Amino acid sequence: MKQTSCPIVVLVGRPNVGKSTLFNRITKSRNALVDPTPGVTRDRHYERVTWEDRVFMLVDTGGIDDNPEDLMVNHIREQAMAAIEEADIIFFLMDGKHGVTPADHQVVEILRRTEKPIFYVVNKVDSPEQEIERLSPFWELGVEKLWAVSAEHNYGFNSLMDGLSEQIDSGDPGPELPEGTVRVAFFGRPNVGKSSMINRIVGEERMVVSEISGTTRDSVDTLLTHGNYSYLLIDTAGIRRRGKTTDKLEKFSILKSLASLEKCDVAVILLDAGEGLTEQDTKVIGYALDHGRGLIIMVNKWDLVEHDKKQQEHILAEIGRQLPFVGFAPLLKVSAKTGYGVKRLFPVIGAVDRQYRAKFPTAALNNLLRDAIEAHHPPIYKNKRLKFFYTSQIGTCPPMFVVMTNSAKGVHFSYQRYLSNKYREGLGLDKVPIKLIFKEKS
Ligand code: GDP
Ligand code: GDP
Repeated sequence: MKQTSCPIVVLVGRPNVGKSTLFNRITKSRNALVDPTPGVTRDRHYERVTWEDRVFMLVDTGGIDDNPEDLMVNHIREQAMAAIEEADIIFFLMDGKHGVTPADHQVVEILRRTEKPIFYVVNKVDSPEQEIERLSPFWELGVEKLWAVSAEHNYGFNSLMDGLSEQIDSGDPGPELPEGTVRVAFFGRPNVGKSSMINRIVGEERMVVSEISGTTRDSVDTLLTHGNYSYLLIDTAGIRRRGKTTDKLEKFSILKSLASLEKCDVAVILLDAGEGLTEQDTKVIGYALDHGRGLIIMVNKWDLVEHDKKQQEHILAEIGRQLPFVGFAPLLKVSAKTGYGVKRLFPVIGAVDRQYRAKFPTAALNNLLRDAIEAHHPPIYKNKRLKFFYTSQIGTCPPMFVVMTNSAKGVHFSYQRYLSNKYREGLGLDKVPIKLIFKEKS
C-alpha cells in the first residue's frame, strides 16, 4: 500500500488581481475533474483537482484567510510567508492592468527565500497585443520567468497549466505502508495537546513504532504496528515544528490541515475541555466532512474539569449545539496528561475504519430500500409519486450509494435525510459519514 501525496498549490496576491477568477478557470475547466459533492462549508476556496493525470489541491488563500481589517501590504506579506511554509507550489498573481506595485517587490523578496516552485503570474494580459505593454514593467522585479495570463479570457492559460503539470509528479508513490494501514491525523488549535496526545499514545500502546518521512517536506509520520494492525499517525501543522511557527502564522495552518485531511482516513479533532470550540475547530470539522473523512472528537484536558460537573455539561452541550451535523462522530473524553480515556482511542479508530471501508451486497441494499419506502412512502412531486427503482453501493471511504429514481429533483431534503438514516441504521453505519446520490433512470 502506498501513501499518496497531493501537492498544495496556493494562489497568493493582492485583492482584485484575479485570484478567484483564476481559481474558477482552473476548477471549472472541462479539463479538470473536481469532487462534485456540495460542501458543508459555504464558500469553497479549495478544490482537489485532477488535471490530466496530475492531482493537486488548489487553494485560494484570499478566500480562506482574508481578514477585512488587514487586507493590504502586511496581509499579503503574511500570506506569502504562510504559503512558503505550508504550500508546495505557489502562484503569485499580479495585476498587469494596474502595473507593478511596491507590495509586489516586497513579496518577491520574500518568495525568493524558498526553493519551492513559484509561478510569477501577471494576470489581465488579455491578448497577445497587450503582452509587451502589460508585461514589461514586471521585469524590473528581476525574476527569471513571468507568466502572462488572462484568467478571464484564457490567454496564456494553457501554457501556465502545462508549466504546473511539469512540476507535479504523476502519481508520486510516496512511502510504502503495510496493507490496510489506517491513516490518522490529529487536528486542533495550538496548545490543545496534540503533541502530548501523540507522545502518550506512542508511549502507552505496546506497538512497534517507526518513523517514516511524511509526504510533505520536513514532516515525519509515525507508523505504529501491532500484529496485523497498523496505524499511521500523520504529522499535522505545528506538531513537530513547535516553537518555529510564530503566532502570526498559526492562523494559516488551515492550509496544512487541508493537506493532512487529503492524506488521512480518520480525522481526530482535539478540543480543550476547559475552553470549548473555536471557529478554527468548526472549520476543520467542516472540511473533514467535505472530504468525507471518518471523524473522532476527543475532548482533551478532561482532568481539568474532572470535578466540575457544570463545565462538563457546558462543553458537551456546546459541542451538541454547534456541531449538530456530526452526530455520528464518536466522542471521547480524554486526558493526555493522565492518560485517562486514551486506551479507548484505537478500538474506536478500528470501528470507524471498518465502517469507512465496509462493502454491502446489492441484494441487501435493495431490500433495505424497499422496506424503507414501505415504512414511509415517498411524497408526491409535480403530481407524480416519487419512485425509487434500485440501489447499489458505488464507493467506500466513505460508503457511497446510488439510488435510482424517476425524479432526482423530487427527492426533498427531508426524504433524503430519512433514507440516509435508514441506510445508517440498516447497515450499522453509525460512526461515519455516508453519501446517498440520487440519479434519474434514463
Ligand atoms: P481576487 O480578489 O484576486 O480574487 O480577484 P477577482 O478574481 O475577484 O478579480 C478582480 C477583478 O478583476 C474582477 O472584476 C475580474 O473581472 C477582473 N479580472 C480578473 N481576471 C482578469 C483578466 O484576466 N483580465 C481582466 N481584464 N480582468 C480580470
Ligand atoms: P499542541 O500545541 O496541540 O501540540 O499542544 P501540547 O501537546 O504542546 O500541549 C500544550 C499544553 O497543554 C502543554 O503545557 C501540555 O502539558 C498541556 N496539556 C496537554 N494535554 C493536557 C491534558 O490532558 N491535561 C492538562 N491539564 N494539560 C494538558
